[in-house]
Amino acid sequence: APEVAFLGRSNVGKSSLINALLGSKEAHTSSTPGRTRAINFFALHEGSGNNKKARPTLIFADLPGYGYAKISKSISSEWPTFIEPYLAERDQLALAVCLVDTNIPPQPSDTQLIHYFQQMQRPYLVVGTKADRVSKNVLNKNMAALRKVHEIDDILPVSAKTNDGIPQLWQRLHALAE
Ligand code: GDP
Repeated sequence: APEVAFLGRSNVGKSSLINALLGSKEAHTSSTPGRTRAINFFALHEGSGNNKKARPTLIFADLPGYGYAKISKSISSEWPTFIEPYLAERDQLALAVCLVDTNIPPQPSDTQLIHYFQQMQRPYLVVGTKADRVSKNVLNKNMAALRKVHEIDDILPVSAKTNDGIPQLWQRLHALAE
């Protein structure tokens, strides 16, 4: 099944977003196929009840958070040892969801990550988290700053709290399912 990886700085709201996606009615997780070092995998089985498919339609890969380490050259010490090899070599990786916080100024480590995907020409989607926390005006201003600094046109704002943007994100993910 195609894999969707979730990446973001610690505290960006990654766990909350994954829970919001998995908690919605459109998908069900049934098993955790494996745990490789610090990557957690969730298998998603489309449908419900007896219509539930035996084989997963999508796999979510929850990658470790980055950004706390005071390292300028790499976004974290785990980056060269297994995050980068995973992103570069994983054949079934269909999309990397890069999370950025819409409540704080653009972070250099996020720019680094996004530029990595642009350079490597690997499929990625930038998602702006915690969109419920600020007014519409402030959100629009912050989103414009994120787009400018990260040099990215398309950022999808979401809220794990209000579920705003979650159906739109699901739409993008469903397009990847076989
Ligand atoms: P992680 O470290 O990236 O997994 O981040 P968490 O999911 O643990 O979230 C970090 C903090 O942000 C927690 O206090 C969450 O309650 C809060 N948070 C996460 N998502 C949202 C959101 O969509 N809206 C609001 N208001 N708070 C959020």
